[in-house]
Amino acid sequence: MKKFELMVLPYAPEALEPVISRETIGFHHGKHLAGYVNNLNALLEGSPLAGLPLEEIVLKADGGILNNAGQILNHNLYFGQFAAPKTDNQPVGKLAEAIIAQFGSFEAFKEEFQKKGATLFGSGWVWLSADADGKLVITQETNAANPIQRGLKPLLTFDVWEHAYYLDYQNRRPDHLAALWQIINWEVIESRLK
Ligand code: MN
Repeated sequence: MKKFELMVLPYAPEALEPVISRETIGFHHGKHLAGYVNNLNALLEGSPLAGLPLEEIVLKADGGILNNAGQILNHNLYFGQFAAPKTDNQPVGKLAEAIIAQFGSFEAFKEEFQKKGATLFGSGWVWLSADADGKLVITQETNAANPIQRGLKPLLTFDVWEHAYYLDYQNRRPDHLAALWQIINWEVIESRLK
C-alpha cells in the first residue's frame, strides 16, 4: 500500500525568519508533522480506510486515525501557505475583493481572525474558509478538526497549538498571530478559492 509522506516545504527552513525561526520549523515540520505521518501510516495498516485520499479519511474516520489524518491535512495547508516576510503584505485578486465585501476591510478581517485565534481555548486552529455559496467564514476548530468536516472549503489557517510558537514567542500567542500576516503567500490562498 502507498504510504503518506511528509510534505516537502516550498521554502528553506530559515526563509520565514524572524516570524518563524528555523528551529521552530525543524521541530514543527520535522518532528511534529513527521510524527503524525508515521502514526497515520501505522494506524492504517489493515484498516478499510487504507489507500483513500487524505480528505476522505478525515471525513470517514474517527479516533486516532481521524486525529492524525486531520493534523496532516491541517499542517499541509498551514506550511504550504507561507513565503519570506513582506512588509505591507496584502491579499490579492478575487480573494481581496471577497475579504473587503465580507469584513469591510483587510484590517477588520485581520482583527477578527487574530481575535478568534487568541481566544481559542487550548489547542486548535483558526480558519478562513469559503462556504458553498462562496461566502467567507472564520471558524475556530479544536484539536485536529478541519473545516471540510463542516462542508467548508479551507483557505487560510493559523495553528494555535503551543508547538507552533512556543520556542519563538513562549506564551505570547497574540504576538505570534499578529506577526504571521507578514509571511502569508496570498497567491496560494487565492488559488485555494478555485
Ligand atoms: Mn502544529
